Amino acid sequence: MERLQKVMAHAGVASRRQAEAWILAGRVRVNGQIIKELGLKVDPSMDQIEVDGRLIEQEQKRTFLFYKPMHVVTTMQDPQGRETVADFFKRIEERVYPIGRLDYDTEGLLLMTNDGELANHLTHPRYEVEKTYIATVRGEPQEEQLNQLRQGIQLDDGMTAPAHISTLSPKRVGESRIQLIIHEGRNRQVRRMCEAIGFPVKHLIRTHIGFLNMKGLTRGTFRELNKQDLTRLQ
Ligand code: URA
Repeated sequence: MERLQKVMAHAGVASRRQAEAWILAGRVRVNGQIIKELGLKVDPSMDQIEVDGRLIEQEQKRTFLFYKPMHVVTTMQDPQGRETVADFFKRIEERVYPIGRLDYDTEGLLLMTNDGELANHLTHPRYEVEKTYIATVRGEPQEEQLNQLRQGIQLDDGMTAPAHISTLSPKRVGESRIQLIIHEGRNRQVRRMCEAIGFPVKHLIRTHIGFLNMKGLTRGTFRELNKQDLTRLQ
């Protein structure tokens, strides 16, 4: 059972605030009865909810694993008119939005969903799943510097949690590739961590979210997660 306004918001008909205003204005019926108070809990799969006499349909919850290309903004709309992640989901009827974010310059895996509970769960600091990144940097960090990343680094917003760090063979002379597995999701965290040890990031890709990997995906494509994926992820 969930609060009426929350169920309405999940169905995509209004924001929670707007739904509350509609309830208070007497525009909402549950199983035929006008509801004018905000405390009511309903069962989204059983109860019939109407706004101004029109039945609202519960949106199916859908979650997609998206390979965000570089130079795409992780927002639903961009005032500067740049391409956004929403542009890739135009043919999906449900309004899915990103869980967390990747920088404009970062490519890789991003979850898109219309399931608010899942989004809250996955971004909650206590449950945050491990994410794997590969950072390409110029030069060659030494073990001592990599150990700093492993132990935790002092950033403007506090110490980072210990990270799992390994190196991969570089693709070009004069560069290194560092694989970082972290569970925090602070703003520009990987870039700031690498910068803090003196190796600014030239290229960054997120290759895994928990057990989810890039298999079968190319830039700009996505696949829908099934029940089993979702159970494993949480
Ligand atoms: N860390 C970053 O620095 N950028 C991202 O996009 C994701 C993690």
